[in-house]
Amino acid sequence: MGQVINGKEIAINIKEEIKSYVLKRSEDGKNIPKIASILVGNDGGSIYYMNNQEKVARSLGLLFNKIVLESNIKEEELIDLIEELNKDNEVQGIILQVPMPKHINENRVINAICPNKDIDCLTTESQGRLYMGVEGFLPCTPNSVITLLRSLNVNLEGKEVVVLGRSNVVGKPVAQLLLNENATVTICHSRTKNLKEVCKRADILVVAIGRPKFVDDSYVKDGAIVIDVGTSSVEGKITGDVDFEKVINKAAFVTPVPGGVGALTTTLLLKNVCEALKKNED
Ligand code: NAP
Repeated sequence: MGQVINGKEIAINIKEEIKSYVLKRSEDGKNIPKIASILVGNDGGSIYYMNNQEKVARSLGLLFNKIVLESNIKEEELIDLIEELNKDNEVQGIILQVPMPKHINENRVINAICPNKDIDCLTTESQGRLYMGVEGFLPCTPNSVITLLRSLNVNLEGKEVVVLGRSNVVGKPVAQLLLNENATVTICHSRTKNLKEVCKRADILVVAIGRPKFVDDSYVKDGAIVIDVGTSSVEGKITGDVDFEKVINKAAFVTPVPGGVGALTTTLLLKNVCEALKKNED
């Protein structure tokens, strides 16, 4: 029987670090890290994420400016607002909630964010830095995967890693971060042949496909580490891409959903705003 990797527990430790950092700054009379979070329209999922980010940020003593805009706002007005926030020395991190309304060119608006404030690693420049190995913010969900693996003290060098999913937000950046750790990385997707056989080679299997319980024990090598990024809503319950009950009997370690990867992402986003402030002061 494998062990469960507890993302919540790991998040608590990082939250404590952030809290102490903010408290110390406040005691020293220094400015507190501030996030500006922009929501255009009223997408239910985005409202949920934004409120959750605000709740966690405030609980750690961070400043959080929630900017909610009408869904019919013009693209130029939105870009002007971002440019103002770029210039605002009190704001170290800008988050743009996506998806945005269809009349807005999401890519153009995202790229208006100054990379030094792009704590969610969304801009083309931030992503380019990631792939070129240039210092910058790490995207939160991929960083969460790496942080969970590090918590196991496993040496990633030379490990056979299979990443299931190749999206720009999860699969590709996860693969890149693992490559940076000198793992041997295979990326699989919907056209991969002999998927099961490829997955079964993995010492570490990272699954990010958005297909509830798709990966069962027949995809997993004995003693593998399985990281489940998937979050689908099934009958009102958040469900991962991995069939946890089956896989836990075969793997050495498995992340649960909820309580695994997702439990860390907001905390890592907030850690990035503290890093942004530190970099500004260097
Ligand atoms: P996405 O953009 O829809 O990409 C899904 C990827 O999975 C694609 O590369 C697709 O292949 C591949 N795929 C789909 N079905 C497959 C199959 N049957 N066999 C093999 N590959 C398959 O999704 P995403 O944004 O990466 O998100 C993936 C999951 O992670 C979702 O459940 C999402 O909600 C979750 N997520 C969680 C967090 C978190 O913080 N926990 C953050 C972000 C996302 P093709 O490229 O060939 O189409």
